[in-house]
Amino acid sequence: MVPSFLNGIMYTMRWTRSLQLTLALIKPDAVAHPIICEAVHQKILNNNFLIVRSKELKWRVDDSQNFYHEHNGRFFYQRLVEFMSSGPMRAYILAHDDAIQLWRRLMGPTKVFRARIDAPETVRGELGLTDTRNTTHGSDSTDSACREISFFFPEFNVSHWYEE
Ligand code: ADP
Repeated sequence: MVPSFLNGIMYTMRWTRSLQLTLALIKPDAVAHPIICEAVHQKILNNNFLIVRSKELKWRVDDSQNFYHEHNGRFFYQRLVEFMSSGPMRAYILAHDDAIQLWRRLMGPTKVFRARIDAPETVRGELGLTDTRNTTHGSDSTDSACREISFFFPEFNVSHWYEE
């Protein structure tokens, strides 16, 4: 017979294994203002995400270029690269049943004007400054979540994180 505390551990491992991971960022515009940064952090806590890892960091310009290389050539690319390396940001690995979609829903539309009109209760609708300085980032698929988690947390084992 398995002792009950082991049952509890096995249950917790099965539960965490079923959770989806996403990479969330609080961008430099929000980190520069402690009250705004705290409001975004509270949004994470209030929506029952498990914070698996978090750290504060500052990008060099080439980190920013690597992360956003798919946008190279777009009219806002230079502005985006400079903004993302302009100051510290906060990176999170978040876990939830539906982490990717839930975080993107909470963030709201990319463009702040759209967010303010269509989704004023979202993070970008409430706190975004411009289409570039739009407070947060979130992975948009399981593939991008894996890639982006490794970008920010290279030592993190995406496949077996619940065993650590
Ligand atoms: P999201 O962050 O919503 O997934 P994208 O991946 O399309 O959006 O764009 C990455 C980032 O590039 C956006 O979060 C925003 O900071 C910036 N960006 C996107 N579109 C524009 C735009 N039309 N004008 C200015 N900045 C933009």
